[in-house]
Amino acid sequence: MKISFLGAAGTVTGSKYLLEIAGKRLLIDCGLFQGRKELRLRNWRPPPIDPAGLDAVILTHAHLDHSGYLPVLIRSGYRGAIYCTEGTKDLCGILLPDSGYLMERDAEYANRKGFSKHHPAEPLYNQREAEQTLRYLHAIEFNADFKLGDDLTFRLQPAGHILGAATVTLTWRKEKIVFSGDLGRPNTATMVDPVKIPEADYLICESTYGDRLHDHADPEDALEAVINETVGRGGSVIIPSFAVGRSQTLLYHIWRLKMTDRIAGDLPVFLDSPMAINASELFCKHHKIHKLSDETARAACGVAEYVREAEDSKKLDHSKMPMILISASGMATGGRILHHLKHFAPDRRNTLLFVGFQAEGTRGDRIVRGEKEVKIHGQMVPIRAEVRRLEMFSAHADQSELMDWLTGFRSPPRLTFITHGEAQASATFAEKITNDLGWATMVPKLGDVHRLD
Ligand SMILES: [Zn+2]
Repeated sequence: MKISFLGAAGTVTGSKYLLEIAGKRLLIDCGLFQGRKELRLRNWRPPPIDPAGLDAVILTHAHLDHSGYLPVLIRSGYRGAIYCTEGTKDLCGILLPDSGYLMERDAEYANRKGFSKHHPAEPLYNQREAEQTLRYLHAIEFNADFKLGDDLTFRLQPAGHILGAATVTLTWRKEKIVFSGDLGRPNTATMVDPVKIPEADYLICESTYGDRLHDHADPEDALEAVINETVGRGGSVIIPSFAVGRSQTLLYHIWRLKMTDRIAGDLPVFLDSPMAINASELFCKHHKIHKLSDETARAACGVAEYVREAEDSKKLDHSKMPMILISASGMATGGRILHHLKHFAPDRRNTLLFVGFQAEGTRGDRIVRGEKEVKIHGQMVPIRAEVRRLEMFSAHADQSELMDWLTGFRSPPRLTFITHGEAQASATFAEKITNDLGWATMVPKLGDVHRLD
């Protein structure tokens, strides 16, 4: 058995693990690198594996840093199945085409404005290639063993995090290899708790927040305060939000705040992202795999006015303040939020509210770190609005919650690989596991190959 770390090693994006087991070559996750330019450029290198030589791909969940490289894999010759849960399949159905669409549009915009170094600027893949990828997605049930070959099975179990997110347990004879995927938080209002797993010989565990604890304050109290302070000075709350998961959680809490008169019932709320709107519809459809009833999910999503058309999105910049405006992308790396930031960030009355992880080097990360201006579409935009960050909306377990998930294992894995974290987070988390649990850990580097025997 052999594992190669082709992404999410030393960074949080680009998740890709090649597992050679029982004579088969399996790829666990197939994500895009995001964030710093040096990372993004990795997406443009030739695929680090021969796609035609792969036997199967297994996805933990639909986030693009786990699924967004699939169109390149298919274009490069992969023709096998991509296994995932039904929720992940449905979400990929909106996330991947949108990713291709945004890449096309960004390339086109760069060409029109002439600020790309490449002439002409090309998308990594287009919407059509992303759509063609979808037919290879093969949905399987949670908690059922799926046979890949002689004595080789795998099982997907709920990981919380986002709709359809799963951990992967591969079993070959007596050996068990567990991939945590991205782990959600226990006891949230909307998502299920990550299921603990009793056995692993080898564990590949994420460490996004491996060196940090979230603010455990009540998310509704925090949201209420930010909204009322901003509205009090006549400003709007602008929320760059991940379209999938976070947007629906926000709508749920905003709906509850309105229902209990903690914020003004007539404060306009806009969900300005076709993808977030589609994700909200999926959230209602898949109510059996999250905590809200069909009825509550529909009422919560109904708190916002859906803005599908680009023309209507632009009009929002000139509509009456105050309002709450939720738009993608969550790290302000692309999407409609960029136009809104150009318009709203220079006004002191407004609040830019960040509710999710900001990968190093992204615009969102720079704004959260307090940079006074950021470049958008080749133009410097001053940040005068108040910048707030509410980490309690995170879809990721923090250090204590990750440690708690690890307590589910009845005995220590032979080796635990710590991945999917910035270097500091992974190192701190590995040390914590060794110190507190006495487990053998390793923080692999990008491109590392390890024998598992
Ligand atoms: Zn994720």
